[in-house]
Amino acid sequence: MNSRLEQAVEKLKSTGVRMTPQRHAILEFLLSSMSHPTADEIYKSLEGKFPNMSVATVYNNLRVFKEAGLVRELTYGDASSRFDANMTDHYHVICRECGKITDFDYPPLIDVEREAAKRTGFRVESHRMEIYGICKDCQKHTA
Ligand SMILES: [Zn+2]
Ligand SMILES: [Zn+2]
Repeated sequence: MNSRLEQAVEKLKSTGVRMTPQRHAILEFLLSSMSHPTADEIYKSLEGKFPNMSVATVYNNLRVFKEAGLVRELTYGDASSRFDANMTDHYHVICRECGKITDFDYPPLIDVEREAAKRTGFRVESHRMEIYGICKDCQKHTA
C-alpha cells in the first residue's frame, strides 16, 4: 500500500469517516489514476469488483473525499465533473479531441493575480487556467 493512500485513509478516519471496502477502492483508484476520472469512469472500472455498488455510491464517496480535502472537483459547465487527487498546485492541459486532461507543473501565476487585483480593485482569491490543444495520441490519429 502506498503512503499517499495510507495518509488519505488516516485523514478520513481522523474526521470520523468510516472506511468501507468500496470507499477504500474508490480512494485507491483516485490516488493511482492521473487521468482525472469522472464519477462514471470510476464506477465502470470498479463495478466488476463491487457488483452491488451504484453510481450514487461513487458520488457520495467523492463528496466525502472532497469535504475532507482529498480531491478537487473540476467542473466543466454542462459536462460531468472530473476528480483530481493531486492537491498540489498545477495546471491542466486538455485535449479537444478526446478530453484527456494532463497535469502540467508551472509556478502559480501570482503576477497575473496581483495585476488583476490592481486593475480591478478585487480582492483576488484564486485563478483557474486551462490550456487546450490536441494530445500526442490524437495527433497520431489525425496525421
Ligand atoms: Zn486526445
Ligand atoms: Zn490535475
